[in-house]
Amino acid sequence: MIEPSGQPIDLHHQGAQGVIGVYRLETDDGSALFDCGPATCFDRLREQVDVGELRHLLLSHIHLDHAGAAGLLVRENPQIQVHVSEIGLPHVVDPSRLIASARRLYGDTLDTLFGEPTPVPAENVHVAGHREIGLVSFPTPGHASHHVCYLDEEGTLYAGDACGVRLLPARHVLPHAPPPDVDLDAWERTFDDILKHQPERLALIHFGVVEDLEQVAEHVGRARDYLRVWSGRVKRGMTEDEFIGAARHDYEGAEGACDERLPLVAPFEQSYAGLARYWRKRHEVA
Ligand SMILES: [Zn+2]
Repeated sequence: MIEPSGQPIDLHHQGAQGVIGVYRLETDDGSALFDCGPATCFDRLREQVDVGELRHLLLSHIHLDHAGAAGLLVRENPQIQVHVSEIGLPHVVDPSRLIASARRLYGDTLDTLFGEPTPVPAENVHVAGHREIGLVSFPTPGHASHHVCYLDEEGTLYAGDACGVRLLPARHVLPHAPPPDVDLDAWERTFDDILKHQPERLALIHFGVVEDLEQVAEHVGRARDYLRVWSGRVKRGMTEDEFIGAARHDYEGAEGACDERLPLVAPFEQSYAGLARYWRKRHEVA
């Protein structure tokens, strides 16, 4: 049996290390995986994880880089039970709308980037409630309306994208805000809610583990602060080019250089599009 290491299982997305990492954990009801990565990384996942031994898949949300391989996993091992938010559930069972939306965002590059998700049989899919197989689970909207996090007994928060993206050991946190349903007010409440749960560790899919309570609080604080910066820039009318230039400049300022993996993990143009859409919709309502 492969022991859970507490460290991400690197899926070598697009041949790059440290971009997408999923987590294996032991639960009250057997071995589980937190997120499964895209369909294009399924072969790598099978090399790293004994799929036959898995009993559960906990999904943070249904974006293809997190959940795209769910159908392939369950096809290979129909015992696997998939846990996902109520809003996400129908799209795991029938991913056609998800695929159409991803096509609009990625065009033909979708096939090489993430591949298309395959449906998971409805009987294998469950709405994540307050407790799932021994973990506390709670809604964490913001990055996506249907995002959930899971907290285990040791204090590890399986965070998905709710606390932003950070390519550890880098310190800079990117509050990746893609369309269509980034929600800034919800995200602010999510940051509060996460801190209220006092996690001692954050397991990030992109990428790595933030250790200890103080570091976690600092990380969440930086995600919140920088989301306000990004949001303000878009609200004030920055163009896409200006926004991307400023984001790159901030990254270089914090880390010394821009990371070549950023376009793979949290493309700045997507955050611009997500935030621009958010403010456009807010103005329409006003
Ligand atoms: Zn996402």
